[in-house]
Amino acid sequence: MTLWNLEPVDLPEDLGELRHEVREFLADDIRKGGFKPHCDQWLGGWDEAFSRRLGARGWIGMAFPKAYGGSAAGALARFVVTEELLAAGAPVAAHWIADRQSGPGLLKFGSEEQRQTYLPGIARGERFFAVGLSEPDTGSDLASVRTHGTRTEGGWRVSGTKVWTSGAHHAHTMVVLARTAPATSDRHDGLTQFIIDLPNIDVHIRPIYLLTGEHHFNEVVLDDVFVPDANVLGRVGAGWTQVTSELAMERSGPERLLSTFPLLAASIDHLARSVGDHEDRLGALVARLWSLRQMSLAVAGRLEAGEAPAVEAAAVKDLGTRFESLITETVRLLSPTTPDRDSDDALTYMLAESILHSPGFTLRGGTNEILRGVIAKELGIR
Ligand SMILES: Cc1cc2nc3c(=O)[nH]c(=O)nc-3n(C[C@H](O)[C@H](O)[C@H](O)COP(=O)(O)OP(=O)(O)OC[C@H]3O[C@@H](n4cnc5c(N)ncnc54)[C@H](O)[C@@H]3O)c2cc1C
Repeated sequence: MTLWNLEPVDLPEDLGELRHEVREFLADDIRKGGFKPHCDQWLGGWDEAFSRRLGARGWIGMAFPKAYGGSAAGALARFVVTEELLAAGAPVAAHWIADRQSGPGLLKFGSEEQRQTYLPGIARGERFFAVGLSEPDTGSDLASVRTHGTRTEGGWRVSGTKVWTSGAHHAHTMVVLARTAPATSDRHDGLTQFIIDLPNIDVHIRPIYLLTGEHHFNEVVLDDVFVPDANVLGRVGAGWTQVTSELAMERSGPERLLSTFPLLAASIDHLARSVGDHEDRLGALVARLWSLRQMSLAVAGRLEAGEAPAVEAAAVKDLGTRFESLITETVRLLSPTTPDRDSDDALTYMLAESILHSPGFTLRGGTNEILRGVIAKELGIR
């Protein structure tokens, strides 16, 4: 049995030009005051104007066909652009979910009408999505969602409560997982995905604040929301398979190791000027980063080939998200800086935001314990 397939991937040469182009664009945008680099910006950096600037360049929806407004550049080109955006600490949260999973989900399972309705706006960086999976009593054990859809004339009535819903207070559309038939012996049966456009008078969105006080995610109460048949995503009852395929995209990208990269870069600039045994510690981080990056790239290569490397993606996310916190811890111990989010000094404010965002790294997108369960199952020991 081949347990791991993480064949090294050589990026095609023309992607080097693309990387250079993105890097120049970002440096120029910073110079013009377009954005200020921060850590964990794929979660916290909601900037719709920036998303539109990227959309105008063709750097959103890179995996969508041209017929739906995408650039059809493929997964490896998207990987390169994504890496550069994360490394620069650019504010990409607004379009992140739509570009990474909702758009590809619509492409794979959506009707022609749904693709025409949603994909071009996503690619322009104008239409943003939220994902309604987790509930107050259901996060890891997703098959036990209590939100339910009941058949009515011309569609469904959906009720329930979702939590930790990133960006729901800004998003134009939310994709909700709900139970539409009682669980059979297979608990994964009877789940359906619904597309709900926002705002909606029967959808009540309340903030849940991060440790920093930022409003990133929400509690979302669905109070007998009418969803027309045309807004069922994919097949009624096939929600589990569809969500699992979405999670493979959600777990495998470079954002699972680069959330605190801007802090590492700032600390290298800073600590290189001071005395101590920093070279060893920082060098070890860079070496580990390189290995993780090669693994993440290998996963992207398999996605490009149309495969679904779920186990490898789980391993990269487990290792990568712990590495993100290791950067924070290492810099905190090496640096005399007192973390302060309001400081003008990059190392000082990035250290503060990395410490305060760290608790979420190994939780979001499926906890590390759950990912290890996925790996153990593949090993045949569970
Ligand atoms: C920053 C952030 C953004 C998020 N955004 C979204 C979003 O947009 N949409 C959305 O739907 N959700 C979102 N989430 C929720 C996230 O997916 C859940 O927090 C996660 O799946 C865990 O679920 P839970 O919080 O219910 O914890 P629980 O499932 O209750 O788990 C609690 C603890 O028990 C452990 N545990 C649970 N089951 C097992 C098991 N079988 N074996 C071993 N250990 C186990 C877990 O690992 C965890 O440590 C977000 C979370 C964060 C932190």
